[in-house]
Amino acid sequence: MSWGNSSLGLVAAALGACTEAKPPAPALEVGQVGGASVVVLNIDTFRKDRSSFYSDAPASMPLTTRRPWLVVDGAWSASSWTVPATATQLSGRPVHQHRVRDADMPGDSGALDGVFLTEHLGGLGWETRIYTGNPFFGRVGDFPASAELTLFPDDGAESNAGTLASAALTWVESVDVDQPFFLWFQPMDAHDPWDPQPEDFGRWSDPALVPFNIDDMSEVQQADLGEALTATSDPAPIREAVSAVYDEQLLELDRMVERLILGLDARGRLEDTLVVLTADHGELLFDGADDEYGHAGFLHRAVGEVPLALLHPDLEPGRALCLTAAEDLAPTVLDLLGAPPLPQAVGQSLRSTCRSAVTAEHWAQEELRSVSASTASGRMELRCEGGSAVGFDLANDPGEREPLPVDQVPDAGTLAAALDALVVDVEAVDGTVCRRDDLDRVPH
Ligand SMILES: [Zn+2]
Repeated sequence: MSWGNSSLGLVAAALGACTEAKPPAPALEVGQVGGASVVVLNIDTFRKDRSSFYSDAPASMPLTTRRPWLVVDGAWSASSWTVPATATQLSGRPVHQHRVRDADMPGDSGALDGVFLTEHLGGLGWETRIYTGNPFFGRVGDFPASAELTLFPDDGAESNAGTLASAALTWVESVDVDQPFFLWFQPMDAHDPWDPQPEDFGRWSDPALVPFNIDDMSEVQQADLGEALTATSDPAPIREAVSAVYDEQLLELDRMVERLILGLDARGRLEDTLVVLTADHGELLFDGADDEYGHAGFLHRAVGEVPLALLHPDLEPGRALCLTAAEDLAPTVLDLLGAPPLPQAVGQSLRSTCRSAVTAEHWAQEELRSVSASTASGRMELRCEGGSAVGFDLANDPGEREPLPVDQVPDAGTLAAALDALVVDVEAVDGTVCRRDDLDRVPH
């Protein structure tokens, strides 16, 4: 390493709250953690509201969240699908800039314009490795650099998180004790098809109402759900059962993430490791329309909001409100480490600022289908193909079931400005036509 790796000791955290009324405000008044090792627990398809950080609901991840985390409230995904969303987390760039969008897209998809955090830290002396069960890693162009990727599909013998945790801990043991490492851990357990452990299945769900055979994971498909929901006159209990199975799946995921953290501790590596727990995106479990389920294709709060928490002995535990975008993740990690910034990243470290608004993009077949902007207290969407902007008041309509005219949305001016900037930026990159008549009606 070309620069120091000692832990600098930490200034205690005064958790500065950040609101859209006072941008740009310092967000997390925390010190750095020196050249520590890093473990990013990027839980694929993990809903923010199913984390014990933010909810007292019984269906959650209580083991993992029992530790003294610094919890950030206000993190949003960049996209509704794994590949573009994760590429943003790893590159510090929004989707239309890094251009890693879709497995089936022709043209430039997969040809990263930028540098991934793994390569960057590798060049600075960290041992780096990605462990994931997501099959789209390594399949979409050079997303991410395949040499440092280890893919473990779920073979049914053990949960994906369990397989990954075992492999990751074996790898950590192989790293020299004086060598900092970077581990990206992205288990797929929360993504359908779900396969709760036998002891968990039925804890909250009524197995008789689950519209698929839990022993045959191939049956757990969106098509089956749609069929089951349209074939009954009373779909509500089925929807509840599906949501409950998602929760039951999280129990084993929680145990395996805890196993990974305990394993780091047992190997003496937790004391000098920055652990980040977050998600690439969430999951829509009929929050909006009664038939809306899944994630890719929906720019919805249940998909866009993600958990974010930091754990390190030098970080004061607590909770901070700070609106932050997915492209801020890598710059924040590097800033905490005291490492040089990521080339071409446009994200901002949470140590320097909170955002007044965050934006997300949904692409399909090389077209921008929709964009959204969110603040801590309001949200609206602009659907490009229809040319109209639709607003939602999250405070009064958390399920986003009642669209509002944009000028009736809280923070409409801030949102419109954010969307305006995004659309202009996207058009500059891709020439995408996106009508902004509705935005123009909102003073901003
Ligand atoms: Zn995903």
